[in-house]
Amino acid sequence: MSTASNSLQATIARVGKVLAEEERQGYQNRAARGGIGSFTRAGLAPLRGSLPTRAADDTLSRITALLGGYAALAPQERAPLLDTVLGELRDLYRLVRALGENDPTAQPRYTGPPANRRPKPAPKPKAAEPRPRAAAPQAKAPTPKPRAATTQKPLTPDSPVSELSGVGEVSARLLGLINVRTVGELLKKLPRRYMDYSQEYPIAHAFYGQEGTVKGTIRAIEEKRLPGKKSMVVAEIVDGTGALTATWFSPHVARVLYPGAQVVLSGRFGERRGHLVLESPEWELLDADLLHTGRIVPVYGLTKGLFQKQLRGFVSKALDACAASVVEFVPEAVRTRAGLLPLATATRAIHFPPDDETLRASRHRLGFDEFFLLQLGMQQRKHQWQTAMPGHAFTVDAAPLERFFGVLPFALTAAQRRVLADIVADMRRPQAMSRLVQGDVGSGKTVVAAAAMLAAAAEGFQATLMAPTAILAEQHARTLMRLYEGLPDEERPHVRLLIGSTGAKERRAIAAGLTEGTIDILVGTQAIIQAGVEFARLGFATVDEQHRFGVVQRATLRSKGHNPDLLVMTATPIPRSLALTLHGDLDVSVIDELPPGRQAIITRAGGPDDRPREYEAIRAEVQAGRQAFVICPLVEESEQIEAKAATEEWERLRTEVFPDLRVALLHGRMRPAEKDRVMAEFREREHDILVATAVIEVGIDIPNASIMLIEGANRFGLSQLHQFRGRVGRGAAQSYCILIAEDPGLDAQTRLGAMVETQDGFVLAQKDLEMRGPGEFLGTRQSGLPELQVAELADVRLLETARREAERTLADDPTLAAPDNAPLNERLRRFWKQGTGDIS
Ligand code: ADP
Ligand code: MG
Repeated sequence: MSTASNSLQATIARVGKVLAEEERQGYQNRAARGGIGSFTRAGLAPLRGSLPTRAADDTLSRITALLGGYAALAPQERAPLLDTVLGELRDLYRLVRALGENDPTAQPRYTGPPANRRPKPAPKPKAAEPRPRAAAPQAKAPTPKPRAATTQKPLTPDSPVSELSGVGEVSARLLGLINVRTVGELLKKLPRRYMDYSQEYPIAHAFYGQEGTVKGTIRAIEEKRLPGKKSMVVAEIVDGTGALTATWFSPHVARVLYPGAQVVLSGRFGERRGHLVLESPEWELLDADLLHTGRIVPVYGLTKGLFQKQLRGFVSKALDACAASVVEFVPEAVRTRAGLLPLATATRAIHFPPDDETLRASRHRLGFDEFFLLQLGMQQRKHQWQTAMPGHAFTVDAAPLERFFGVLPFALTAAQRRVLADIVADMRRPQAMSRLVQGDVGSGKTVVAAAAMLAAAAEGFQATLMAPTAILAEQHARTLMRLYEGLPDEERPHVRLLIGSTGAKERRAIAAGLTEGTIDILVGTQAIIQAGVEFARLGFATVDEQHRFGVVQRATLRSKGHNPDLLVMTATPIPRSLALTLHGDLDVSVIDELPPGRQAIITRAGGPDDRPREYEAIRAEVQAGRQAFVICPLVEESEQIEAKAATEEWERLRTEVFPDLRVALLHGRMRPAEKDRVMAEFREREHDILVATAVIEVGIDIPNASIMLIEGANRFGLSQLHQFRGRVGRGAAQSYCILIAEDPGLDAQTRLGAMVETQDGFVLAQKDLEMRGPGEFLGTRQSGLPELQVAELADVRLLETARREAERTLADDPTLAAPDNAPLNERLRRFWKQGTGDIS
């Protein structure tokens, strides 16, 4: 090897190192004293006249020219420029090395343009000539290594992003804003969408409206000043077949591209006066590994200051830097059965898919992972609290239940009986019950819970019923007392109410009653799970309207007893696929039948003009001896403004519209005792009309109310509207629900249309889920579940596969203790760390 070429290599490497450092520092123009521009010119000066070919000389000139204006650029303009220069520098390095590897007297092997400037064929051959990209050219090995691996110590997913070459302080801070702090998090930052630029056209064949890619040479490029401060870069591109004009509004393009440069441009083709144009296309020099053009290109969610091109570059570097450390954690047998891509392949392809099919396969793989980990976690948990903490096996005698049914004013529906039978069977088992009961509004869940709690009390255990609001808790306490009223004294459970506003004296009495065991059933709000509430023998815990509770509360409730049986009730029915995902640890029963005699609620949607007529409808109901709800619009800003608006509406209705009727007001800013009073009065028919905010939403049971008018109906979600409507139609009278919307948007119109069309809560929930997505639908923030990034809950087949595989895996190795399962166990632990842990 010639010493001459050795020293040339060293010269290039020295400059390359500084440029890489500049990249790392975030393009502050501080990596070299005197600035990057003059440093590079001086640093590369010894090469002049010593380079093997004219092409190499050209490259050298281009590098110094490109960096000439470096100081004047903004950091985000410097980034792509430096990237280009580093690429050129690497070419130069290779040329020089090629010279050194040959006999110095012979011609260098190099002829013509550098090998890696050859246009690459359209479906890019994978792994064909990977080249060091991000870092200084120090490659010694003759065989090219994967990019970046040559200069950068291999990273792990836990390495901070700042250790990636090219990510300086500024970029690292910006990445932090989109929750990317480590290389692994960067790789998890999935594209929002993709642009398909894989179709390449000769310029002559591209036409207006298409999206795709052209490759060509820049014939001319200039920066045109526009009125104001702006300027536009206009370039003329030619290939063998024709010419087109490309324009950009970013001036730095004019400094990076130059006449003669071979470029790849991707975008949507337009037309101006019969001439083909590309406005602000993505562009790359032909010699680059194509990340932004000529392929399916990822589009990420950004933050101000962070650029699409930059982020793509970072992701690409991250893939190269830790491809080797991607740990395949799904056991091979599972992968084979489920037809999964290797994790490393899928991780790369979800960012830079070589084609549609591989993209689909990688989504399939990564989606499987999420479902699989979710299912494993939940099944393991269920197993744990069923084995480690056995519950109580109740006997559940038939006699007390029969006597209870005897005193009820109605017969249970078949669905209620079936669900109760499920619960009783659970209670008799030594494992703690975890059952979710779904039932549409008005399906009669309360009485089912009442029967189960009675059964527990009959065997000397205590039970709780926890509700999300004081109003509802108060109603439940009242309902239970009424339901149990007809029982013989010695069988009638002692029911007490504990809510936030319960006074100190009553609290002391309750505390004593609970520890002495004289209280059988405690009904209340979250106050029940607060410290200081201790039970002597809690054996059965019920949670009503569970979607309002977080998992933490449920776990706390469970901890109040010795693993009590847990019954969770919800009127927000979730589609089966979702129930399986979210409640993999719960058994699910459905009350799919309404008590007999219910009439369909007549639902009308209208606008402000319909008010007078609907007010008359309300008046008619009241005159027939029934009652009405008027719901005020949701005010997002604050409860206070909402309360004010409700008060004004109440004033208006009371004085102007219904001066002759008794109109009451209920809103969230009222003191709890005051709310209770208003509800009690309304229940006792002391008011005809109740004007209320959304506080009325869940559970309220006033069978005499037969008409509800919802103002601002367009502002409520579908499930919420359905909950509101469920407040009427609970008695025998024909009931009405009037939806008043001002200026509803398209989504709101769809919601209102669905409300008019159907009364089936399952159908509406499915629709709501489709419209809002699972996160909002469920309020994922409080659900305590790890977020799903790839998996779609609608993908029932994938979910079922994952569930089956999780069962199979745990059947063989319940604690995942086998050495083969170590990576899986590790991954599982991390996955669940994102959520709060205990479910249900
Ligand atoms: P939800 O399922 O919405 O919580 P509730 O438990 O509040 O419903 O019951 C709604 C109404 O239906 C209550 O007034 C209740 O007394 C009544 N109800 C419950 N079960 C029956 C039944 N089998 N037959 C007739 N009415 C019933
Ligand atoms: Mg209820």
